[in-house]
Amino acid sequence: MSELFQFADAIGPEKVICIFEPKLDLRAILVVDNVAAGPAVGGCRMAPDATLAECFRLARAMTMKNAAAGLPHGGAKSVIIADPKMPAERKELTMRAFAHAIRDVQDYIVGPDMGTNERAMAWIHDEIGRSVGLPREIGGIPLDEIGATGFGLAIAAEVAQEFCEVRVAGARVAVQGFGAVGKHAARFLAARGAVLVAASDSHGTIANRMGLDVQALTEFKDQGGAVTDFPGGERLARDAIVGIACDILIPAARPDVINMTNVGSIRAKLLLQGANIPASPEAEDRLHKRGILSVPDFIANAGGVICAAVEYRGGTQSLAFQAIEEKIRENTRAVLESTRSRDISPRQAAVNLARERVVSAMSYQRF
Ligand code: NAD
Repeated sequence: MSELFQFADAIGPEKVICIFEPKLDLRAILVVDNVAAGPAVGGCRMAPDATLAECFRLARAMTMKNAAAGLPHGGAKSVIIADPKMPAERKELTMRAFAHAIRDVQDYIVGPDMGTNERAMAWIHDEIGRSVGLPREIGGIPLDEIGATGFGLAIAAEVAQEFCEVRVAGARVAVQGFGAVGKHAARFLAARGAVLVAASDSHGTIANRMGLDVQALTEFKDQGGAVTDFPGGERLARDAIVGIACDILIPAARPDVINMTNVGSIRAKLLLQGANIPASPEAEDRLHKRGILSVPDFIANAGGVICAAVEYRGGTQSLAFQAIEEKIRENTRAVLESTRSRDISPRQAAVNLARERVVSAMSYQRF
């Protein structure tokens, strides 16, 4: 029992629900961390190795992200312990059974995450009417297709340029993970005059000091090619992108890819964290000491969840872009101003900002 409370602190979690449905062998966990600001929004992850500890950490990360973005939503996360590549029919049954099991948890709004997608959200919506990240036909705003998170990263870059020696127009950009987040970040930055000098995926890195054609590379990737097969650049090893000569480095792939073994090789002046927890805490500290400005994940990559919150209220795509721009501009500035005036790291400033908002929302609660 005590392990269930090892993550508990003054913020949460409010409830932890274990789900077991023997007919389907459905095993799932839901952690609702904090709902002081409003019903919690958080993704549902499907992975065979998902754990309780992971679910706690991800739920807290959502509390911080939603608070930092100034959304009227708390944080939660759910994990279904199963192989996301299971047959389609079984996956639909599994998602519907999961939805049925959480039907009474009114303060949890389900979103997509690793192993689930807009189709899975549609099944949940059909069962309980409470999910975001839906297909367009039923009121969704396809956040990956429109590049909600990549757009937010470009806005964060516009603000960050006032706090470091980088100018977005003409900046050399390297994107680790040319997927939904990375390719749109490259597109929105290129529209502001930046030059993509390197991009990577799980196969390797492609680099060209004179610039890669973002649109052509995106089309190439969308057709299933690996970046290393794209003509017009030098092929390098997958992790070579971390040390590439550039002004802006955007990790948009996996957690902890920037760590104590490679942080010393970074040559960028600005790091925009597209992925969640792309840098270990020690590596982030080292970046700060080296004078490399790093905009933390839950500030820079909040575009997707802001888009989901707009969708939940029946808003349009253009309203979503407007909300992303407004909130990310304001929050990036608040964090970087606090970093400068209080001489703390951007991570510390971001955590302070989010925590203050959660604690303030909690002050209106009786329990
Ligand atoms: P995606 O699957 O569309 O793209 C990921 C890309 O990274 C793929 O091209 C893959 O080949 C590549 N990749 C995987 N491992 C790699 C490695 N070790 N080195 C280089 N490239 C690698 O995923 P996505 O939606 O773009 O999400 C990327 C990250 O951003 C994830 O950590 C996700 O949790 C986070 N994130 C996504 C969103 C969103 O709106 N999609 C929002 C916030 C945070």
